Amino acid sequence: MSFGNLNIIDPLLRAIALEGYTTPTPIQMLAIPPLLEGKDLLGIAQTGTGKTAAFVLPILQRMSAERRASRPGSPRVLVLAPTRELAAQIGQSFATYGKFLRFRQLVIFGGVRQGPQVNMLSRGVDILVATPGRLLDLMNQGYIELKGVEFFVLDEIDRMLDMGFIRDVKRIVSALPEKHSSLFFSATLTRETGELAQSLLNDPVHVQA
Ligand code: AMP
Repeated sequence: MSFGNLNIIDPLLRAIALEGYTTPTPIQMLAIPPLLEGKDLLGIAQTGTGKTAAFVLPILQRMSAERRASRPGSPRVLVLAPTRELAAQIGQSFATYGKFLRFRQLVIFGGVRQGPQVNMLSRGVDILVATPGRLLDLMNQGYIELKGVEFFVLDEIDRMLDMGFIRDVKRIVSALPEKHSSLFFSATLTRETGELAQSLLNDPVHVQA
């Protein structure tokens, strides 16, 4: 099994080859085909399984099938992560795998000045990776709106719940447009995680790494 067998497009295959990957990991083999078809997904996977590429690659591929001009403060992709470290790492993955596709991406998190983030947003953004608190701050100030979101990713849901982000997440979800794809990832499947997925995902494919 190769990435080519998964019908990954050439600009992504070239980026993958530059990383030195030869074979998709199990979660990538399971998640990429349904995501390319536009399904919602609940993935139970730990860090280290290759789960980031499992959602970044199909999202980039579907975005590139329908190009759209970057809009100020209005991303096509929103990824929520519980910590700034994870947000930065996910942003790096979009940059690495998307290096031949020229999308505009931005990572925002709290604890730093918002000025530079606001500046970047005003120049147009396709992919926004955020921690929940700073995202809500900037939404409340009118710098970000989510009505153009096509892909919504919630990463490390179990940690997000542990850290008390559930109300923030629900507020953010209520600002999304009715029609969008949702991709949820969690290291464990607890009752709470399952309930959140049940209430927010539309007929999801379940994959476990
Ligand atoms: P993640 O689980 O997303 O944190 O990824 C763990 C690590 O696996 C990252 O450092 C990736 O660069 C690497 N990785 C992702 N996909 C592959 C692959 N198909 N082959 C080899 N390494 C990979």
